[in-house]
Amino acid sequence: MGNLRFLLLAVIVAGGGFYWFGNQQDVPFTGRSQFVTVGLDQASALGEEAYNEILSQSDVVTRGETAAMVERIGRKLADVAAPENPGFEWQFTLVDSPQANAFALPGGYTAVYTGLLPLTVNEDGLAAVIGHEMGHAIARHGSERMSQQQVVQVGAVAVGLLLGDQSIELQRIAMQAFGLGAQYGFALPFSRLHEEEADYIGLILTARACFDPREAPKIWERMSAAGNGQPPEFASTHPSHATRIDNLNKWMPDALAVGEASCGSEQ
Ligand SMILES: [Zn+2]
Repeated sequence: MGNLRFLLLAVIVAGGGFYWFGNQQDVPFTGRSQFVTVGLDQASALGEEAYNEILSQSDVVTRGETAAMVERIGRKLADVAAPENPGFEWQFTLVDSPQANAFALPGGYTAVYTGLLPLTVNEDGLAAVIGHEMGHAIARHGSERMSQQQVVQVGAVAVGLLLGDQSIELQRIAMQAFGLGAQYGFALPFSRLHEEEADYIGLILTARACFDPREAPKIWERMSAAGNGQPPEFASTHPSHATRIDNLNKWMPDALAVGEASCGSEQ
């Protein structure tokens, strides 16, 4: 019995390794290698479905200057992102809501909430937030997270096999430890990495589309000054506002050079 279990375990580990290394792809803009098993078409279909579901329950703004501004900024950013992701059907919607939030779902389905506008202040600031959300979609962070969850489930099966002879109590404790390890050793570090990557892609996109990238760190300064409250997606508490501001300032010379190359020196 024991030998059979270890043979199964070896098959899972070896198969998992092949699966992991066989499904690596490069993230546009950053070149990071990521594990993604979800196809672009499948992810986009899920994104579109979720988007329509959310918008059907939201107060969508279709008229007026602000909705037009969101659309105009989004199109400019989508145009300059096209070389890196030719497959997206970008959509940009303004939602009337006091929430300071924005999101972009797989496939490019993007929404901005009116509650965000006091923080973004001007078009360059709004471009920074839309660019950040587009960065998540372009880097396929949602699909990467889904793919990683599959691996964690396989890992849980492997742990179960390994401890099959042990007491129920020990198995329960080991599973809890495995769950915590997966959360703090895997999911949270990746969530911080995703935020950082979206910040970087957003900064480069805004500069390429001739917005002023120097507005991006100012938004986080305003967020810090505004104090606590429910942290919206784009303001995920990991990494801290200070870390984000430091990173954005570190990347700023590159972004300004990209802006100058795309738009001339009038910025
Ligand atoms: Zn984000």
